[in-house]
Amino acid sequence: MSERTTCAVIGGGPAGMVLGLLLARAGVEVTVLEKHADFLRDFRGDTVHPTTLRLLDELGLRERFAALPQSKVRSVSFPLGDGRSVTLADFRRLRGQPHPYIAMVPQWDLLNLLAEAGRAEPSFTLRMSTEVTGLLHDSDTVTGVRYLDPEGPGELRADLTVACDGRWSAARGQAGLEPREFPVNIDVWWFKVPTEGAIAPSLLPRTGRGKMLAAIPREGYLQIGYLGPKGSDARLRRRGVEALRHDVAELLPELADSVHAIGSMDDVKHLDVRINRLRRWHTKGLLCIGDAAHAMSPIGGVGINLAVQDAVAAATLLAGPLLEHRVTERHLAAVRRRRLLPTVVTQSLQRLLHRGFVGPVLHGRIAAPPKVPLTLLRLLPRLSAVPAYLIGVGVRPERAPGFARRASV
Ligand SMILES: Cc1cc2nc3c(=O)[nH]c(=O)nc-3n(C[C@H](O)[C@H](O)[C@H](O)COP(=O)(O)OP(=O)(O)OC[C@H]3O[C@@H](n4cnc5c(N)ncnc54)[C@H](O)[C@@H]3O)c2cc1C
Repeated sequence: MSERTTCAVIGGGPAGMVLGLLLARAGVEVTVLEKHADFLRDFRGDTVHPTTLRLLDELGLRERFAALPQSKVRSVSFPLGDGRSVTLADFRRLRGQPHPYIAMVPQWDLLNLLAEAGRAEPSFTLRMSTEVTGLLHDSDTVTGVRYLDPEGPGELRADLTVACDGRWSAARGQAGLEPREFPVNIDVWWFKVPTEGAIAPSLLPRTGRGKMLAAIPREGYLQIGYLGPKGSDARLRRRGVEALRHDVAELLPELADSVHAIGSMDDVKHLDVRINRLRRWHTKGLLCIGDAAHAMSPIGGVGINLAVQDAVAAATLLAGPLLEHRVTERHLAAVRRRRLLPTVVTQSLQRLLHRGFVGPVLHGRIAAPPKVPLTLLRLLPRLSAVPAYLIGVGVRPERAPGFARRASV
């Protein structure tokens, strides 16, 4: 027997959880289906941007978020080697933002907070350990999902299905939506190094000629993203763990005594970095948002914020039609129209950074950001507000719709 809801959301990542919460606050019956039993996966980034922080305030979640363990990145600087440094992005210069910094919070804490807020809404259902295995169709219209949960297979019918199932979205493929891939010259390897000492959180990767890594501080360990040229996984593994430990210790001398904790190359997970985008974000009865509509490079740490902003836009535009059970393709197309510019601008900047900085560092051609922007930023420090705005706020930031706003408790 099949069950019914108004909106079925595939995937409980940042896009799915924010969309679920906001629609539920509008009174829409919404079910979020997440295949994992919990949110505790370390294969996720940790950045929460000023626009997302302001959104959490507007949703009445300011105090609960503030209680999460977190560090704050207020600026990003590059050391010049002579004791001086250049500020590349100064978030303190962001006018009108109540939180002018990037909060570094493990993503599972943020998702748990959103889940808890969702559970307070009578029309919100979150089904963990529930994997969507296929789409239901009525001729050319998607009418819901097939799923598998611990009790076995089932069907959930819905007026609208929203694919928030990430960069490898199976739902978009089943709906016949193919992303356009853009060339990417880097990959990332992801592993942990335990650390007792505090290491200042930084959005700027540590660089050396032919080497680069980013380190996210988490409780008791650093989550390392080691960058290398695309297609070099086999070579990296052939070089072996000792060479990797050496690279890490060279870029992060503070970790020289801990790198032996990288036991073997089996502890090092390969991430195939993609930048892609759907031409159409919807088909009849189904909409894609977040990474399912546009996979982002980890460069700049903006994917979470963009996914959240997509969800806010989708909830704002679709809550009314969903409440009246009259969502049309025109409504779905409006979501893409609203979010296309921010997506294109962000992906274009990421591709520029890949070409102009990350790629040349990894191919050993440079070891630092290009001189011209560094000199300009040194001479005119106010310019550091521009990268801060692009990273922290972005194009066309979304605000919480009135129906979702609550006073902080
Ligand atoms: C290693 C790494 C580091 C990153 N670092 C950062 C960073 O520091 N800052 C940043 O902003 N971004 C970062 N990103 C990108 C960021 O994680 C994504 O852009 C963001 O999570 C996208 O959110 P989403 O909700 O669209 O998708 P996801 O976060 O990918 O969520 C998709 C969810 O769908 C679930 N799912 C998938 N298939 C199914 C199914 N069939 N049925 C049910 N559930 C399903 C998944 O389990 C997952 O929970 C990083 C990405 C990676 C891989």
